[in-house]
Amino acid sequence: MREAWHTNNEEMYIIPENLNTTEIYNHKQIAKKGTFLCPYCNAKLYVKSGEIHGTYFSHLHGESCEESKKSELRYSKYKKQKHDETPRFPQILAVMKDELEVLSKVYPQITHSNGYLNSDFVTFVPDISLKINEHKYAITIVTNITSSTDISKAKNIKKQREYYTTLGYEALFFIERSNLGIDIDKHSLVLWESEKEALTTQTSDTLWEEFLIQLSPMSDLKHILNLPLADLNVKSIIYHTS
Ligand SMILES: [Zn+2]
Repeated sequence: MREAWHTNNEEMYIIPENLNTTEIYNHKQIAKKGTFLCPYCNAKLYVKSGEIHGTYFSHLHGESCEESKKSELRYSKYKKQKHDETPRFPQILAVMKDELEVLSKVYPQITHSNGYLNSDFVTFVPDISLKINEHKYAITIVTNITSSTDISKAKNIKKQREYYTTLGYEALFFIERSNLGIDIDKHSLVLWESEKEALTTQTSDTLWEEFLIQLSPMSDLKHILNLPLADLNVKSIIYHTS
């Protein structure tokens, strides 16, 4: 598994994926001295390293506890989910986590973790699990939308949103800003199917909708705003930039 309780730092530690040989050796050495404990059963963890699984924490042979097995399952599911992201993805995720790290130091009501560390998630696993007071968010970063990946990504976003909603989480999808397409003549955004599925209704959208409705009859609005649809449905999309 990726996570361990770091006894010196007294915090959860996620083993990095791209350690060099010396760093792997150092991790193995300090593990032997009892630095890393299983966050679930408190057993001493060892560091193992191999071609297929990379570097990871392990209980003594055959002693993996149930919770750690579940965590490993979540992590492998998560890795499968993210297999076709662009090389920018880990950097974007790191930036967002840094940002949340700072915010959670300032605002104690904000807590967050990697999605795969949260046992609520089984079928789908978000990048980040975020809690602000009692409100829970499942955050997913979406990269690599192309004409060949768009439809399957859109279907996946839809399924993930439904799943996270059932668990009581608000699903938030962040799309790379490089996907932003503006039709200047029509004053419109042209969306991938994935972007359409990533749209959310925020409080400000509801306020905009109320504001627009009371301005004038729908037929006039449609004419003035050059809207292709008969009904007014204001939604937001979240882009991220490097
Ligand atoms: Zn354990």
